[in-house]
This record gives sequence, C-alpha cells and structure tokens, in this order.
Amino acid sequence: MSFKLKILLILVLSIFVSAAFPTVTLYVLYNLEVDLRQQVHKNVNNFTAISSFRTDLLRYDNLVSRYVITRNPSWAREATRIREDAQNYLDALVDANRDNPNLSGDIEKIKDSLDKYFDKVKMIIRTKADNKQKLSDDLVSANNYAASINDELVNPLFLKIADELLVSITKLKEQQAELGMFALILGGVFIPLLSVIAIVIYRSTVTPINDINKTIKEVRADIPDTLNTMVGELDDFVKKRHHDDEISKLARTLRHLGKEVEEKTNELNQMVITDEKTKLFNFRHFKQEFLIEVARAKRFNEPLSLIMIDVDKFKHYNDTNGHMLGDQVLIKVSALLKKECRETDVPARFGGEEFAALLPRTDAKEAFQVAERIRSSIETSEFENQKAQPGGNLTASLGVATFPFDAYDAEALIIAADEALYRAKENGRNRVEVYSKRGV
Ligand code: GH3
Ligand code: MG
Ligand code: MG
Repeated sequence: MSFKLKILLILVLSIFVSAAFPTVTLYVLYNLEVDLRQQVHKNVNNFTAISSFRTDLLRYDNLVSRYVITRNPSWAREATRIREDAQNYLDALVDANRDNPNLSGDIEKIKDSLDKYFDKVKMIIRTKADNKQKLSDDLVSANNYAASINDELVNPLFLKIADELLVSITKLKEQQAELGMFALILGGVFIPLLSVIAIVIYRSTVTPINDINKTIKEVRADIPDTLNTMVGELDDFVKKRHHDDEISKLARTLRHLGKEVEEKTNELNQMVITDEKTKLFNFRHFKQEFLIEVARAKRFNEPLSLIMIDVDKFKHYNDTNGHMLGDQVLIKVSALLKKECRETDVPARFGGEEFAALLPRTDAKEAFQVAERIRSSIETSEFENQKAQPGGNLTASLGVATFPFDAYDAEALIIAADEALYRAKENGRNRVEVYSKRGV
C-alpha cells in the first residue's frame, strides 16, 4: 500500500472514529426527543379526557335534575348517553395512566366516587314522584356530591395533568434546543474542522513528498543537466518551505547528493575525453568532434582544417634522456599546442608523440599560420638536454590539410594531413607542409 493511500486511510478512519462519538450522542438525544414527544402527546390526551369528563359530569348532573323534575324520558336517554361518555373518558384515563402513580391513585378515587354518585342517582330515580320533599332533598345532596367530586377530585387532577403537560412541553423544548445546538456543533464546526485538519496533514506530508519525487524522477543518469535542474528545484523547494522538518531535511540531503553526483559526473565526463598524460583531448573525443565538425562544415559550406604534429627524432630523445624526460617533452609540447589554439579548436593527442589540432571555420591559409606558430614555439622553447638532439634542438614537423579542397570526408582529411606531415619529414623536418596549395 502506498504512503499516500495509508495517510488517506488513517485520516478517513480518524474522522470516522472522532465523528462516531458525537453521532451516537446525537442519536441518543434524538431518541430522547422522540420519548418526550410521546410524553407530551399522552399528556395532551389526558388533558382532553379530563376536560371532557368534567363537562360530561356537570351536564349529567344537570340532566338528572331535569328528568326528575319533568319525568320526560328524553332527558333520561340523554343522561344515560352522557354518563356512558363520562365513563368512557374515565376508563381511557385509567388505561393511559396505569403506570403513572402520580395520577392513577387520583383517578381511582374519582372512579369510586363516581360509582357512589351513580348509585345515589339510581336511588333518586327509583323514588316515587309524589314524595316531593325527599326527592328535592336527595337531588340537592346528589348535586352537592357531584360538585364535591368536581371540586375536590376532578379539578386538582385537572391541574396536575395541566402541570405535567406544561413540564413535558418545557422539557421537549429544552431537548430540541440541545439537539439543535449539538447538530450545529457537529455539522457546522466539528466535521469541517476535522476535514481541515485532514487536508493540512495531507498537504504537509503527501504533497511535498510527491513534489520531491517528481523532481527526482526527472533525473536521467546519462544527462548531467537534469541533475542540475533537480538540484535547482530542490533548492527552491527548501527555500519555499516554512518549516525545518524531516521533509526539508530529506530535500536537503537529496540536493546535496545531487550536487555531489553532478560534480562526480562532470569529473568523469572530463576524464573520459582527456588524455591523462598531456591533459589534451584524447583520440576518442577528437574522433567524435572531428565527425561532427566535418558534418557541420559540409552543411554550412565552411572550411575546416586539420594539423598533424609529430615530434622530430623523438626516439633519439627517449634513448638519450629516458622515458621520464620524454614524457616531460610531450607535456610541454601539448601545453604549447593548447596555447596556440583558439577556444573553438580541438587540440588532441593522436597517439604516441603525435598530436592533432582540428580548426573549424579555418581555411588553409589561416591553418598554415597557426601551424607555423606551433612549430616556431616548439623550436624556440627550451627542452631539457635538447642539445643532444640531431641538429642541437628539439623540433616538430607539421602537416596541414583543409576541407573541402584537400578531402571531402574525415578519413581522407586525416590521410591528406598525414601525407603533408610525411612530406615535412621528407623535406628536412622542423617545417610545415600544406597538402595542396589550392586552398591557400
Ligand atoms: P621521426 O622524426 O621520424 O618522427 O623520428 P622518431 O624517432 O620521432 O620516430 P619514431 O616513430 O620511430 O619514434 C617515436 C617514439 O616515441 C618511439 C616511442 O618510444 C616514443 N613514444 C611514444 N609514446 C611515448 C610516450 O608516451 N612517452 C615517451 N617518453 N615516449 C613515447
Ligand atoms: Mg611518430
Ligand atoms: Mg616522431
């Protein structure tokens, strides 16, 4: 699993876990709210039932009086209906409040009193209509009894129920406010805050590591320039970072490593193209440059000259003075050759005591002048024990050939310059020969 994926997973998991606790709390609060709603609903039902019961009780009492006075059976029927209604309301109250000790006792008491009241009413109805005095007394007594049920039992219960209703509504309102606040904190603050933290963590870990990775990926081992770009980009990266943390350290270490590899690569590249003894370009590099320059000269129709240099009687020098001093001669001749060449020329050790100089955009006339300068500087330079050389001086012979007059490709140009050099040797050494005079 990649680092990026791991971080993402950890972040999502931590958001989930951190959000789980408030979510559970929210769920519990919500359920509590549902309970409270049911409570309020029950209290509203109680309130309706007790109100209706009270109205029915009073109406019944009134209807009984009317019937007893008028003996009109329609009042009796109406009274019976109302009594059943009242009884139903009371039964409903009993059913709904069985598990509420605060109310069930009071309701039972009402029930008992109501039975007694109905008994009283039955007695009155059975009493003969001509016993007017007794009827009147009993009616007053029943009326008073109904009034006392209402005053002493129903009204206090009514107040109690109203109280409970008020309390449950208040609690519900508080609960709803709490729930709303919690949801607001959770939804509006907590989750966005966690998400911001997650983004910050992601951007401070995965993003910079990705950047470093991208920078390093651009490096290709064979091209030192890309290393240079990487070092530059890592430099900017370190400068832009606000914190000196592990990621900055990693970038600095990589930048340092990049610099070292870059230096070593440059050193190696230099070694690959340099002749160790003389510090001139070696034959391999010379050949490469030669092919490129010939192609360029052909393409742009420009002259290109080649000078071949060979130290005169060098075997003699070696035999007389030993290889060590011979090497010193080669080093000095190389330095003189380099000095006489321009920046764009390619002076190289061709092999043994032979050297070559490639002169781009140089015609035979100019090349001859350069060759003369080289020859003259070797002739006039002091070499250890040069007096022992034949002629009493250490000298060199040079051959010059020029593209396109003397040859039209690289190989032919070397052969031509070599031939000119051979001629210089033939004609007495310490001289410059040009392959043909055509270019001069
Ligand atoms: P010529 O004038 O005809 O060129 O005579 P020469 O003696 O220079 O010619 P020859 O090719 O016979 O001799 C070249 C000598 O250069 C032979 C070899 O020992 C010597 N030589 C070649 N490479 C090196 C080197 O790296 N160091 C030393 N000290 N001598 C070398
Ligand atoms: Mg030679
Ligand atoms: Mg020689």
